[in-house]
Amino acid sequence: MQVSLQNKTVLITGGTRGIGRAMTEATAQAGANVIATYMSNEAAAQDFIGSLRSKGLKVHGIKMDVRNSQQVDEALATMESEHGPVHVLINNAGIVKDDLILSMEDEAWSDVINTNLGGVFNVTRAVARQMLRARSGNIINISSVAASRPGRGQVNYAASKGGVEAVTKALAVELAPRNVRVNCIAPGVITTDMSKDVRDAAGDKILESVLLKRFGNPEDIANMAVFMASDMSSYITGEVIHIDGGLKL
Ligand code: NDP
Repeated sequence: MQVSLQNKTVLITGGTRGIGRAMTEATAQAGANVIATYMSNEAAAQDFIGSLRSKGLKVHGIKMDVRNSQQVDEALATMESEHGPVHVLINNAGIVKDDLILSMEDEAWSDVINTNLGGVFNVTRAVARQMLRARSGNIINISSVAASRPGRGQVNYAASKGGVEAVTKALAVELAPRNVRVNCIAPGVITTDMSKDVRDAAGDKILESVLLKRFGNPEDIANMAVFMASDMSSYITGEVIHIDGGLKL
């Protein structure tokens, strides 16, 4: 079975590293025109985008800090003039700053909330303008198993991802009459830079709770992202799809 994303423009925040990188590659291979945003390492991001373009895939990069709503609005206007409207938005950019509640600094709280939850708001509002005009759209938010089964030291991260899941459901209700679907993918522990510290510190302990006894690969998430981005998922909205090898049980 071939899932096609031909004629779809897919915007992926944080689309050049980790899970976002795998989703950029997979959606482009399925035929989409992909715009991957990056923030910090421009040279590495451009290398990755260049390597996909050299394989004939339609991938473009744009620098954008999801915390900055003005920058997001400007970037979205540039994208629309160069590529037309976004059909599928994947809100993937995220950070962790774990700490126990008594030692958690204000900054660790606000950075995580502003990036993981504020970023979803900023980018979604900008893209929703285009989707509401088109009376069509598809938004996929990347949450986390931490929203339903948080670890110690994750009050900021769990709050941000719980917020993302609540936003997903509220937006699904609000935008369904305009033919815009909104869903969430909630990964478990996936082998990226983000989870390296926790895998190094407590990997064996975590694996005891993962029914399938392995960490996930970025591709495990990317496969679902391709399906959710396609018309094959056209009757799914307001849903949180857990991909965690059974960790949340
Ligand atoms: P990585 O740390 O590998 O990558 C994070 C990505 O987010 C990078 O592309 C980074 O861009 C981007 N990013 C961070 N802050 C900003 C910002 N302010 N503006 C724009 N982009 C930003 O993380 P993962 O790939 O592991 O995580 C991707 C998503 O999946 C996150 O939302 C994360 O919470 C979620 N997740 C991850 C899990 C895991 O085990 N890895 C488990 C559950 C959920 P750049 O590098 O260019 O700065």
